[in-house]
Amino acid sequence: MGQGLPDPEEFSFFMLNKVRIVLIHTSHPGNIGAAARAMKNMGLSQLYLVAPKQYPDDKAVWRAASALDLLENAIVCDSLEVATQGCHLVVGTSARDRSIPWPVMDVRQAAETIAAEPDEHKIAILFGREDRGLTNQELQQCQFHLQIPTNAEYSSLNLGAAVQVVCYELRVAALAKSQLNNAWDWGTEWDVEAATNEEIQRFFKHLEETLVELKVINPKNPRQLMTRLKRLYLRSRPDQVEINLLRGILTATQKLVQSDK
Ligand code: SAH
Repeated sequence: MGQGLPDPEEFSFFMLNKVRIVLIHTSHPGNIGAAARAMKNMGLSQLYLVAPKQYPDDKAVWRAASALDLLENAIVCDSLEVATQGCHLVVGTSARDRSIPWPVMDVRQAAETIAAEPDEHKIAILFGREDRGLTNQELQQCQFHLQIPTNAEYSSLNLGAAVQVVCYELRVAALAKSQLNNAWDWGTEWDVEAATNEEIQRFFKHLEETLVELKVINPKNPRQLMTRLKRLYLRSRPDQVEINLLRGILTATQKLVQSDK
C-alpha cells in the first residue's frame, strides 16, 4: 500500500461491520433506500428495519441506487429487542433534549467512542420515526444519546441525511483508528465480557419486580424511578458478572420479602 487512502481490504473497517443501523417504524420507504446508500458509501453493511410502515417498496430501491445488496440483506423485524439482540452498546439518535437528561454525545465524540469499543462488541445505533423520533422507552434502552449539532432553530434532519452524517463520522473515526492504532480503549483490558442489551433489559425487569415487591415502586404511580435507575446502571456499562451479582442480590431480596409475608 502506497501513500494516500488505505487499501480498503487491509483497512477492513472491522468496526464498521460491527455497527448495526436500526431504523424504527420508518414511514417513507425512500428514506430506507437513502439510508442503505449512505451506509454502503461509508462501508457499513448491517441494516435493521423495525416494523417499517411501507416496505418493500420501489421507492426504497430507487433511492438505494447501487446499495441494493444492503436492502436485500436488511433484517426486517417486529421489535427493537430482536434488532438489538446480542448488542453490547445501544446508542439512540435524537435532535432534541428530553425531559429527563441522559448522557449525550455529539456525533463526533460518539463515533470515536464506538471506534474505541473492543472488536468483538456489537453496536446498534437507533434512528426514529420521521414524524416523532424515538419514544422515551426506546431512548431509555440506550447507554447514551447521539446528537448531530444542527441549527437550534431547525434541528431535525431528514432521516436519510442523519444516517449519512452518522455513517460518515464512523468512517472518519475508523480511518483515524486504523492509522493511529493507538486509540485508548477501556474495553480490551477488561476481565469479563460486557453485558448484552438483553441481559441488561432482563435485569431491569427483575429490578422493577423486586422494587414493586418491596413497595419502593407503586405500580399505580411509578413516577420516574425506573427511568432514573436505568440511566444510572446504563452509565456504568456493567459486565456479565456484575449483572449476575446484581440479579443474585435481587433474588435474595425477593426470598426474604416472601419469607416475611
Ligand atoms: N420530529 C422528530 C425528528 C425525526 S427526524 C423529533 O422531533 O424527534 C428522524 C430521525 O432522524 C430522528 O429520530 C433521529 O434518529 C434522526 N435525527 C434527525 N435529526 C437529528 C439530529 N440533529 N441529531 C441526531 N439525530 C437526528
